[in-house]
Amino acid sequence: MNVETEEIENVFKNGSCYVEEAPEFPAEFLNLENPLETFQSKEVKATHPAESDLFARHEEIPAHDQKLLGDARIVLVGGGGLNSWAGVGLARCGAKSITVIDDDRVDRTNLSRQFFGADDLGQPKGKALAKNLATQAVGGGAITGIGLRFEDALEKYPLPADIFVTGVDNNECRLRVAREARRRKIPAVFTMLSTDGMRCQAFLQNASPIEPCLWCALPNLDPERIMPCASAIISSCHLAAAFTVFFTHRALMGWDKIPAFNWREADLTGIAPDRIGVVKRRNDCFVCSDI
Ligand SMILES: [Zn+2]
Repeated sequence: MNVETEEIENVFKNGSCYVEEAPEFPAEFLNLENPLETFQSKEVKATHPAESDLFARHEEIPAHDQKLLGDARIVLVGGGGLNSWAGVGLARCGAKSITVIDDDRVDRTNLSRQFFGADDLGQPKGKALAKNLATQAVGGGAITGIGLRFEDALEKYPLPADIFVTGVDNNECRLRVAREARRRKIPAVFTMLSTDGMRCQAFLQNASPIEPCLWCALPNLDPERIMPCASAIISSCHLAAAFTVFFTHRALMGWDKIPAFNWREADLTGIAPDRIGVVKRRNDCFVCSDI
């Protein structure tokens, strides 16, 4: 595979997409008595003392620190195609404190590529995904779902977080996350798919305010624009999830001997080369200049 490694000043291509807004969900579904619910998972215990540790295969992975991962409070902003599988990945590998925020409702078209079943139809994705991720947390833990928009969840709850993992389809929410992460001095991962659903872009906004933000990487992102993806398929969601989980791991555990980067871009079709790079901070970035 053709892979380019480069210093990326900024990435001018806007990888997102734009279609007509989806119709509104029927109003009777929109009344949530309790928008927050926590689901507990039990650790899968060894049945014999000679059995290997649940996460024994992680031991040789560079920079891996199981305790740091287990202790981290991970907030998934968005519970659709991108964070469904990033969530499964994080729950499976031993993250024990995950919160999912999404006020969108599960519909039939979601089932082909998101971690929902027939019982979840009509439910807010934040809560439904949390319930389903609780079945995946083999190391035990608590998965909290919030069926609200990110900005409303921020207002209503303290939302303790060591990292935001952002898989949404609108720039307004990305901007709120980028700013909130900066305010809290925590890292944030952003993952996006192209209009045709074939290309994935992932960016790690590190915790330090001297590091670049998402708008340093993509200065042409219009914060006003809502851009639900026109096409999407589970293969690109899985590709995106791999990058998302990797960036989340590196943000929490460090890089050790792996050369650090903050931008990853790949195309399932192979038409465009994969890109790995280091986005630089921009002096004229309106997000960074607010800090
Ligand atoms: Zn910036």
